[in-house]
Amino acid sequence: MALFPDIMPRPEPNMDDAAFWENCAARRLAFQACAACGVFRHPPSPLCPACHAPETRWVDAPGTAEIYSFTVVHYPSHPAVREHLPYVVAVLRFDGIEGVKFVSNVTGVSAEKLRIGMKVRLWWDDIGEGMHLPRFRPAQ
Ligand SMILES: [Zn+2]
Repeated sequence: MALFPDIMPRPEPNMDDAAFWENCAARRLAFQACAACGVFRHPPSPLCPACHAPETRWVDAPGTAEIYSFTVVHYPSHPAVREHLPYVVAVLRFDGIEGVKFVSNVTGVSAEKLRIGMKVRLWWDDIGEGMHLPRFRPAQ
């Protein structure tokens, strides 16, 4: 069962991030890196911001991340979340994926126990129609 009900807006891939979402559909969390200089970037974009090269490669993220920042959402900004308050939106960083800050949900932990620096583990939320979204829960 998905974290949020079906009325939650789904990803709408565009030409820049379609590969990211195709990877997610296959339960692969990977980030775009410049094939010329290696600089990571997210969200995906057509040119490297460091050297302007268009060539890219995709690098798998490790299965764990660290909470860089987070907020606990108490206000239902969309009807899909009304029955799921409060929930956590976190900014995560991954070892080996320098410079990328990734926004996702952290589940399975009360807001009082969340901490900056907490290790979290990836899980895949099956939202139907072949799409999966990367979410996280405490690693231990
Ligand atoms: Zn580059």
